[in-house]
Amino acid sequence: MTSIPEQRREQILTWLKDDQLLRIDELAQRLDVSHMTVHRDLDALAEMGLVEKVHGAVRLPDPHKVTTDTCHLCEMPVKPRLQFVITTQSGQTLRACCPHCGIMLLALQSDVAMALLRDFIYGRIVNVRQAYFVVECRVALCCEPSVIAFATKQDATDFQQGFGGRVLDFAQARHTLKEAHHCPEED
Ligand SMILES: [Zn+2]
Ligand SMILES: [Zn+2]
Repeated sequence: MTSIPEQRREQILTWLKDDQLLRIDELAQRLDVSHMTVHRDLDALAEMGLVEKVHGAVRLPDPHKVTTDTCHLCEMPVKPRLQFVITTQSGQTLRACCPHCGIMLLALQSDVAMALLRDFIYGRIVNVRQAYFVVECRVALCCEPSVIAFATKQDATDFQQGFGGRVLDFAQARHTLKEAHHCPEED
């Protein structure tokens, strides 16, 4: 198993999608690292609001829980269902209110170690680059143009059929937002 913290942490989040609760003993065994290392990984993930540590185990936090965090870009309250979290290489955590601000923030940040968001339907943690986005749908939940993220293209397409908008991958969504904000393309 890998000794790179980011990969380990993503792996933990992936396992947590299948098992709601994982014991720290078991994680140490599966990852072939010390308990101390697992605790460090879980502390980092908990700091980002991505997991909750409970008595020798860890679980995904309740996606409906109210947070008091504000968006690093626009300072609106972070909405749990739309949450977008960036970790920088220096270990700083940047939260965005929704994928709109998250993608904009990601474009401004040069030292990104990991960027994760929540799937709008299930609340699952998804790597931003693997997510699909519905842009400019009829429901405005946060910033305009609205951007809502999904774990699969199928879910994004189903949502689009009900609420309109366009289904885009990460690169397309980023391009669309840059155009909407009249930002020059850097390449
Ligand atoms: Zn924002
Ligand atoms: Zn927003």
